[in-house]
Amino acid sequence: MTTVQTPETTPAALEVHDVHKWYGAHRVLDGIDLTVRPGEVTVVIGPSGSGKSTLLRVINHLEKPEVGYVSLGGELIGVRRHGERLKELSERAILAQRSRIGFVFQNFNLFPHLTILDNVAAAPVATGKLTKPEAQELARELLTRVGLGDRTGAYPRQLSGGQQQRVAIARALALRPGIILFDEPTSALDPELVGEVLAVIKDLATSGTTLVIVTHEIGFAREVADRIVFIDGGKIVEQGPPAQVLDHPRHERTRDFLSKVL
Ligand code: ADP
Ligand code: MG
Repeated sequence: MTTVQTPETTPAALEVHDVHKWYGAHRVLDGIDLTVRPGEVTVVIGPSGSGKSTLLRVINHLEKPEVGYVSLGGELIGVRRHGERLKELSERAILAQRSRIGFVFQNFNLFPHLTILDNVAAAPVATGKLTKPEAQELARELLTRVGLGDRTGAYPRQLSGGQQQRVAIARALALRPGIILFDEPTSALDPELVGEVLAVIKDLATSGTTLVIVTHEIGFAREVADRIVFIDGGKIVEQGPPAQVLDHPRHERTRDFLSKVL
């Protein structure tokens, strides 16, 4: 959606290099290479079980790849290259890097015992980035941005799923991450609540935030994506601008998948 004009010398916002991940004998990611430029919106599509969530979890250090590495803003955060052992990152370094990545889950994952204001303010305080009053002021701003400025004292259970997911997005923004990952952010929502969440994500997309979004909302993908990545069987089968991948897919597997979701 944004016109990405960063020169090649600018470090990629995110680089995934030859990532392989197994669960036991089951190969879940089979050599994933992906480069995301600053400000770019990448939408990942693919059948259930194809490895989309695992890819996001590897990027966010929730899973360690057996082979391959991930770098964030030019800084290496992965663990191993083919045939070469990289130094393992300390837990502290992993936490520091994870704080530069926002993650929005399918099921919101808000703290039930905190008001939505404190849900959003919690991380900047816990990481020592802001004082409590500063974090609360930021949380008010961010909740206003996602249309919940008048509900700051509410608890998650008092809100609809769509509202809770908007809080989760505000919470992801509170650490001012360089990139935000979304894992099927609307698939747990009743259909009438999907639009309000997609509108908030679209607002981020148009304001130049770097986003990687796993979704089955193909119409939305067409609107916001700079690039669509189709994954099947742990491999990127094809990628390109929406008009190419969605309207003129090159591979039979992409055509087959699209015929089921469109
Ligand atoms: P997607 O998000 O595309 O639906 P996932 O990344 O969740 O796919 O899963 C890819 C495959 O890896 C699936 O076959 C799933 O069953 C398997 N898998 C995911 N997580 C684990 C795990 N923690 N242990 C074992 N197998 C897993
Ligand atoms: Mg998934």
